[in-house]
Amino acid sequence: MAESDTVIAQNSASGFRRRGVLFVLSSPSGAGKSTISRKLLADDPGLTMSVSATTRPMRPGEQDGVDYHFVDLPKFKEMVANHEFLEWAHVFDHRYGTPRAAVDRVLASGNDVLFDIDWQGAQQLYQIAGGDVVRVFILPPSMVELDRRLRARATDPSDVIDRRMARAQSEIAHWDGYDYVLVNDDVEACFRNVRTILHAERLKRSRQTGLIGFIRKLNTPV
Ligand code: 5GP
Repeated sequence: MAESDTVIAQNSASGFRRRGVLFVLSSPSGAGKSTISRKLLADDPGLTMSVSATTRPMRPGEQDGVDYHFVDLPKFKEMVANHEFLEWAHVFDHRYGTPRAAVDRVLASGNDVLFDIDWQGAQQLYQIAGGDVVRVFILPPSMVELDRRLRARATDPSDVIDRRMARAQSEIAHWDGYDYVLVNDDVEACFRNVRTILHAERLKRSRQTGLIGFIRKLNTPV
């Protein structure tokens, strides 16, 4: 998707037509990103989650088509070959990708899109959709706390958690590829900050494509 192809969303808070926001939330696993995503989606009917495809096995409690589209490797490769992904990457021995068609549909319907993707995805999305992308990175308050949260979650075996901790370090090293970096030491406060960022970004002049017509009318002598 070239920048100019990004579909224009309707009904900005100020009443003008505006470009849709591609809102990326990244963090190491366990930093609270999923909780914040859930709260944002519950709070904001104008925001729709992008459901990624992945080759990783389903975890207990996950639902196909809701948490991810769970696909096997041949299917994933076929989707790559057919250019069905807006971006895709290897994460923890598995592949993850953002299906393009669903994002286009959401933007065309006038909603903004929320992405829970890693730094590689954020980078690729930024390359293709530039100014329409807002990148937010969420940091844990400390590595000790991150380790505690991952173990409390108890969805992964201990060796997987150790690898997630190692990967967290390299994920955090990409903090400077983001527009906003927040520390999640209080999930409610962090959520409010993320929501504020989304609201302010929607109001940016560069997104208000309907503004020119309005200014023209204002400048017309009465
Ligand atoms: P998990 O396996 O814990 O659900 O996700 C592992 C990591 O993959 C997370 O950091 C998540 O943000 C990232 N991820 C999930 N979907 C995508 C995707 O479509 N593209 C990219 N680049 N990363 C993704």
